[in-house]
Parts: sequence; structure tokens; C-alpha cells
Amino acid sequence: MTTATKTKPAFSPDQVSVVFVLGGPGAGKGTQCEKLVKDYSFVHLAAGDLLRAEQNREGSEFGELIKNYIKEGLIVPQEITLALLRNAISENVKNNRHKFLIDGFPRKMDQAISFERDIVECKFILFFDCPEDVMLQRLLERGKTSGRSDDNIESIKKRFKTFKDTSMPVIEYFETKSNVVRIRCDKPVDEVYKDVQAAIRDRL
Ligand code: ADP
Ligand code: AMP
Repeated sequence: MTTATKTKPAFSPDQVSVVFVLGGPGAGKGTQCEKLVKDYSFVHLAAGDLLRAEQNREGSEFGELIKNYIKEGLIVPQEITLALLRNAISENVKNNRHKFLIDGFPRKMDQAISFERDIVECKFILFFDCPEDVMLQRLLERGKTSGRSDDNIESIKKRFKTFKDTSMPVIEYFETKSNVVRIRCDKPVDEVYKDVQAAIRDRL
């Protein structure tokens, strides 16, 4: 008989505090995270930013793959995204930074399970709930200056489909564990932020 070895996460929730920030494309995750970073001592790690940096890193073996997945609005394989996050968290911990907002992650169930099994359990989830028509307008507006390959109508439609089919089930999974704070974000930035601050105050 073989005995399965149960691996422990790299960090305990006492050592490393993680808040997942989820929501559809253009819901305002990055905007709210930026405000939280200014007011609290969070490190903001956006999965999309880490992937774009890896895509542009000279010599990256994953550059072409990431480029195609992003354009198609698809979930980049978890091995890549998890390794980037793990490295970023470890580097920050070495520098005594222990509070993280992890934005745009997990977007698929395998990522959620692997992250909590191997890295650390999250404290709670901030879920930015936004109607699709509002997100569409925001992304089209952002696309005028963002220079992003996926802020165009074809890619946006694909990203919405991926969000509905693959990422919403992750939020529903965490809702069964009662650690999701749902925040409506079809309101001005500062009004959304008031709700975010209230959620943080109650939970950290
Ligand atoms: P995400 O990180 O969820 O993709 P962003 O934070 O980049 O979204 O926001 C998408 C766009 O919408 C940006 O151009 C941002 O300035 C704008 N935006 C974000 N939140 C709001 C809001 N509450 N009201 C109006 N515009 C917003
Ligand atoms: P974002 O910057 O959050 O809008 O993400 C842009 C794109 O990066 C997504 O449409 C995906 O192709 C990819 N991406 C972002 N986060 C993840 C993730 N957690 N897992 C896999 N791919 C991701």
C-alpha cells in the first residue's frame, strides 16, 4: 500500500494574509486595489500584470503562449500563473511584506485549490459585482489609451464568456464557505471604496 504524503501550505494565514480580489473584466478591481494600497499596507499583485510582465520578459519561454491566451481571453495554464504568484509572494515576504491583495486570481477552480493547498489559505474574497453593460463601456473607454491587446470588442466578448463559464464557479465555491464579500461597483469609485473599506474593517 502506498501512503500519500500530504503537503502543507508554504505559509500559515498568521504569517501571510491574502485577500483575493475577484470580479469581471473592467469591474474596477485594479482601481480599488490602488486605493487600498495607498491607505493600508497591502502589496497588490495582479495576475494579469504578472502575466503581461512575463510575456514581455526577454527570454521567457512562455511569452508567445501568454500573448495568445490573453488575446483570446483564456485562462493561462495554472503552472505559469501560480509560479509567478508564488515567486512574487516569496520575494515580498523576504522583505517583510505580509499582506497581499491578489487581484484577478483565482479565475479557475484548479488555481483556487492549488493556491490554498500549496501557498496559503485566503482570508476572504472581495467580489466586485458589476453588470456586463457597465463593464463593457468601461473597457471600451479604457481601450482608447490602455494599449492592451484585449481591450477590444472581440476579446472583451471572449473574456466575458470565460468569466461566466470558468470564473463565476470559483466565486460560487467560495460562497459555500461563506467568505465572499460581494460589493456592487456600478457606482462612482469613491462610493464603491466606502463599501470596500467597511468590508476590510470588519475582517482584518
Ligand atoms: P479591472 O481591474 O477590474 O479590469 P479597472 O480597475 O482597470 O478594472 O477599471 C476598468 C476601467 O473602468 C478603468 O478605466 C477605470 O478607470 C474605470 N473605473 C473603475 N471603477 C470605476 C467606477 N466605479 N466608475 C467608473 N469608472 C470606473
Ligand atoms: P486582467 O489583467 O486581470 O484583465 O487579465 C488579462 C488576461 O490575463 C486574462 O483575460 C487572462 O488571459 C490572463 N489572466 C489573468 N489572470 C489570470 C489567472 N488568474 N489565470 C490565468 N490567466 C489569467
